[in-house]
Amino acid sequence: MYKGASAVPIMKKPQKPSGKLNGSIQVVPAAKPARPKTAAERHQRLQKILAALDAGYPDATCALYHSNPWELLVATILSAQCTDKRVNQVTPGLFRKYPTMRAFANVPQEELAGDIRSTGFFNNKAKSVIGAARKIISDFGGEIPCDIDSLLTVPGAARKTANVVLGTAFGIASGIVVDTHVQRLSNRLDLTRESDPVKIEQDLVKIIPKERWILFSHQLILHGRAVCAARNPKCAECGLQDVCYSSDRTS
Ligand code: SF4
Repeated sequence: MYKGASAVPIMKKPQKPSGKLNGSIQVVPAAKPARPKTAAERHQRLQKILAALDAGYPDATCALYHSNPWELLVATILSAQCTDKRVNQVTPGLFRKYPTMRAFANVPQEELAGDIRSTGFFNNKAKSVIGAARKIISDFGGEIPCDIDSLLTVPGAARKTANVVLGTAFGIASGIVVDTHVQRLSNRLDLTRESDPVKIEQDLVKIIPKERWILFSHQLILHGRAVCAARNPKCAECGLQDVCYSSDRTS
């Protein structure tokens, strides 16, 4: 049973002392967290990050509306360079109009492009969705392949998309989804110093326990949307502030 979009909780951090002295306000920035020097300290810091994410987002999951693995693949292809909110406005009607993979395989590209126009890059996305449907029908008997190497042969299914589908639809930890939020937060939290998503994923899978891969990326995505935005991150209300070197300590 798949779930649709869920409410986004905000991670709360404990109240700081007010810094008020004799009626005036004295700003007392907290000290920057010390960087770990040993493997044991690094492990301890990572455990703190994971625990804070669990506290803030215990049920994090994919926010894209879908009711089966094929619909999730379509929604994920449409989500490239587009918000999940916008995709979720388009997909319910789209899946009513094209209720099966075969219906997508048979639609003219121009017609599908018109249906998904509001998600941007609609010609390329229509080509990918139709190509994916045809490939899965011809090579995989109409079933989404459950191994990443096969899934990566499907048009439109690059590594991020394949990880989303395998993790969310099948519970298979094939890797860690690295979207723009995971990319930004992994760097801010100093879990990687890479900028290329493939290299970031390679760094993350070395340190995040495999049983956490699926949940971890959903948690970072939710935290990126709710608290640690690209501009003006809300460090003062972030549960990760005590372990984050990028924190704005005066906020
Ligand atoms: S930059 Fe700020 S909001 Fe982002 S994780 Fe660090 S403390 Fe939290």
